Amino acid sequence: MKPKKQFFTTPIYYVNAKPHLGHAYTSITADVATRFNQMNGVETFFLTGTDEHGDKIVQAAQDQKTTPKEYADNISKLFQDLLPVLNVKNDLFIRTTDPDHIKVVNTVLSKIYDSGDIYFSSYEGLYCFGCERFYQERELVNGKCPDHGVAPKTIKESNYFFKMSKYQEWLINHIKTNPDFITPTQYKNEILSFLKEPLEDLCISRPKSRLIWGITLPFDEDYVTYVWFDALVNYISALGYPDGDLFKKFWPGTRHFVAKDIIKPHGIYWPIMLKAAGIQIYNGLNVHGFWNVKGSKMSKSIGNVTDPIKVTDVYGIDPFRYFLMREMVFGLDANFTEETIVSRINSDLANDLGNLFSRVLSMNHRYFDGEVKGADTAVEKEKSLSLSSPAKKAIDDFKQAMSLCEFHKGIGAIWQFISIMNKYIDTNAPWTLAKDEANIPTLKTVLYNLIEGLRVVSCLIYPIMPETSLKMQTTLCIAKDNNKFYTLEEISPWGQIEKGTVIAKPDILFPRIDTDKVISKNNKKNSAARC
Ligand SMILES: [Zn+2]
Repeated sequence: MKPKKQFFTTPIYYVNAKPHLGHAYTSITADVATRFNQMNGVETFFLTGTDEHGDKIVQAAQDQKTTPKEYADNISKLFQDLLPVLNVKNDLFIRTTDPDHIKVVNTVLSKIYDSGDIYFSSYEGLYCFGCERFYQERELVNGKCPDHGVAPKTIKESNYFFKMSKYQEWLINHIKTNPDFITPTQYKNEILSFLKEPLEDLCISRPKSRLIWGITLPFDEDYVTYVWFDALVNYISALGYPDGDLFKKFWPGTRHFVAKDIIKPHGIYWPIMLKAAGIQIYNGLNVHGFWNVKGSKMSKSIGNVTDPIKVTDVYGIDPFRYFLMREMVFGLDANFTEETIVSRINSDLANDLGNLFSRVLSMNHRYFDGEVKGADTAVEKEKSLSLSSPAKKAIDDFKQAMSLCEFHKGIGAIWQFISIMNKYIDTNAPWTLAKDEANIPTLKTVLYNLIEGLRVVSCLIYPIMPETSLKMQTTLCIAKDNNKFYTLEEISPWGQIEKGTVIAKPDILFPRIDTDKVISKNNKKNSAARC
């Protein structure tokens, strides 16, 4: 049965650095999924936020000669300010320094502690300060942390441990019996293969003697909570666990969106924490790949970290959202270059969609002064001019792909229909029909079908390009009073544009971008960077 309520989340972003392209992608993806589900009749709640505790924040604050809280306030604000820039419509923004969140972390810790799944023990191990965690020898690459490339230090201390090993078999079984729990499949397999090795218990505390910027353990005030144990709880503290209305309404109908580097805490720690605390397990984890810039993973040292605000400034919000969702196959890595953005904007947006929109409406002006004449049903039938079947196929394929987070395929279904309409114009050649009075009923029918097709396209692009959707609908005189989207059910019936409607001359939806200019500008930038 289709769930009628669904909770969408991004990870809470760690405030040790400013937002980059990867954060923008996760947020936009979760936003697109949320908007699509709303179109599909689902009631949604969409959460994002920032993760603000831990060693790295203390260090970053020290570097900037400020306090951890002030530092976290500043960076958290950058993440909050980015949301409207990307047209991401979240329902709530959570911060792990919020008092309500801290209270829930305490509740969850106490529950697990009381059940006997947390124990105190002395431990000597290899600790990476960058990762804020202990490493097993077998996890290291040439004796070094795989993420930081530095050798971890041997430290010995007494800490609290969470009995993850106790739940290993349960988790394997849960993953195997719930095929949609971790998607796409390659990530489910990655977690299952990791679970072939015995699971170590998780060290969930840090002594205050070396870290104070965290949530104090409810059962020992000399320790703070390990940052992941604190952070993951945001997904239920935001909903007001245990008694909040939102929690009762939306949990566990959850889709967590994360990048592949944090699959382990989300696919292993989090379900086991929930199980140990006696809380229902979330529905699903949707994992995406990395954006490579200039051929490699974004990193400060390579200097290829891409600022999403700059990209939207240059190309606009909708083209940026379109590019990200169309270019990346959800789950796999993708390459980000300005040349590919420009090429997508020019071919898919300016050429395929933008030209179609302006050609159809301009012809309707040329031949009928902008008035929608309606289809002549007899002619339509005789000459098989209806576009209702390809429109229905576009809606069905779009729905199917988007439900599976196959966003590039969902967009592909719309563009397939756009391409059919462009060919339909060439085949039926309205400019030739217009020359002969006897062909006017055919001309009316052809233009009516094209305008109806544009209606369907304007509605379907909504989750990906909300502004363009509204702009097209306003021109077509079908924008709803409150500018609300159309549901899939409302879109489906063919023939909704009313006869007699007068449609204004269209504005250009997407101006073409001069490829040479962008490339030469980039070359200049690159040579300047080398000097
Ligand atoms: Zn590390």
